[in-house]
Amino acid sequence: MPLNLQYDVNLEPYNSLGVPALAQVLVVVSSVTELREAVQLASEKKWSLLVLGEGSNTVFKSDFVGLVIVNRILGITAFEETDEIVSLTVAAGENWHGLVESCTRKGWYGLENLALIPGTVGAAPIQNIGAYGVEVCETLTEVEYLDLETLQLCSIDNFACDFAYRDSVFKKGLAGRAVITSVNFQLTKNALSKLTYPSLVERLSENITGSSSPTPLEVFAAVCEIRAEKLPLPSTIPNVGSFFKNPIVSAELHAELKKTYPDLVSFSASQGIKLAAGWLIEKAGWKHKSIKGVRVHQSQALVVVNPEHRAGQDVLEFAEAIREDISLKFGVKLEIEPRIY
Ligand SMILES: Cc1cc2nc3c(=O)[nH]c(=O)nc-3n(C[C@H](O)[C@H](O)[C@H](O)COP(=O)(O)OP(=O)(O)OC[C@H]3O[C@@H](n4cnc5c(N)ncnc54)[C@H](O)[C@@H]3O)c2cc1C
Repeated sequence: MPLNLQYDVNLEPYNSLGVPALAQVLVVVSSVTELREAVQLASEKKWSLLVLGEGSNTVFKSDFVGLVIVNRILGITAFEETDEIVSLTVAAGENWHGLVESCTRKGWYGLENLALIPGTVGAAPIQNIGAYGVEVCETLTEVEYLDLETLQLCSIDNFACDFAYRDSVFKKGLAGRAVITSVNFQLTKNALSKLTYPSLVERLSENITGSSSPTPLEVFAAVCEIRAEKLPLPSTIPNVGSFFKNPIVSAELHAELKKTYPDLVSFSASQGIKLAAGWLIEKAGWKHKSIKGVRVHQSQALVVVNPEHRAGQDVLEFAEAIREDISLKFGVKLEIEPRIY
């Protein structure tokens, strides 16, 4: 079948921030063969290339001149199963939450804290998605990708992915070079869930009486409840989740800030002290400000919302105003989390 190329496509339905931008050419691929063909075509035509999953971590600051490949390669295979573990290969176009829910319901555990994160499986390793004390790198064993220079399929193990907080080799050494085609996971059948995140622990103690260790299905349900209360659904209010990473600061700066703001929210991290970016934004008064219709969400100041479907440039100007203000008020540099094109 020839590729179904579409020209001058409005990207609004393809990004959860609801930004109207045009793709010069767009193609939806449902197999590795189609993906390879699309990549080859882009190379022949000298088109720039962008691979999209569900566009839930992407901001278009202008029209995209080139080819947008929308990855819808599907399939989940369990290739190893014992009494203790199950190993899976999951195609990159599978919906992330769908995977988490089906694994948890089958009694395969390890992903339950990552419920309701929007997007595809193929995008999960890019920024090492994480929530409620767990990151995808904890269960991911291998990533298969199409090398854009050689057009060969390559596999790398967890170590070579060089995972860190919201970071991986796909944003560094392999940036612009790899299209992820599938991801392998090893899940367990009898492990207890990781319960380190205070609001999750609190919710579980409210939901469950008489049981000291909640089941992963109970953890999954609690995570879904908390997220549904705190985070706006992109289909209702366009957003890309957290717009800024939680900044990591030195112990000295933390101590100084704590003197002025005794209620400062912080967590210890490997490279220093992690501050809650949402707390800084709320403290600086941004819950009550809006520029050109762009604002932060009332229940979670870390989430920038775009209810009027404004251009990406307007959203980025709003984000820049926040960054400048936070730098001025707290001496902290916020870094934007979503990918900008
Ligand atoms: C309401 C909301 C809540 C969120 N909560 C969280 C959260 O708790 N934790 C968290 O970590 N993130 C969160 N996010 C961000 C987002 O869900 C994740 O980053 C997700 O992995 C993005 O998936 P996607 O398929 O939509 O990626 P896209 O936005 O389509 O792509 C993101 C980046 O990955 C690249 N990419 C996509 N697919 C591939 C592929 N197959 N191969 C190579 N590159 C690829 C794209 O080019 C782009 O650079 C949230 C977003 C929203 C809207």
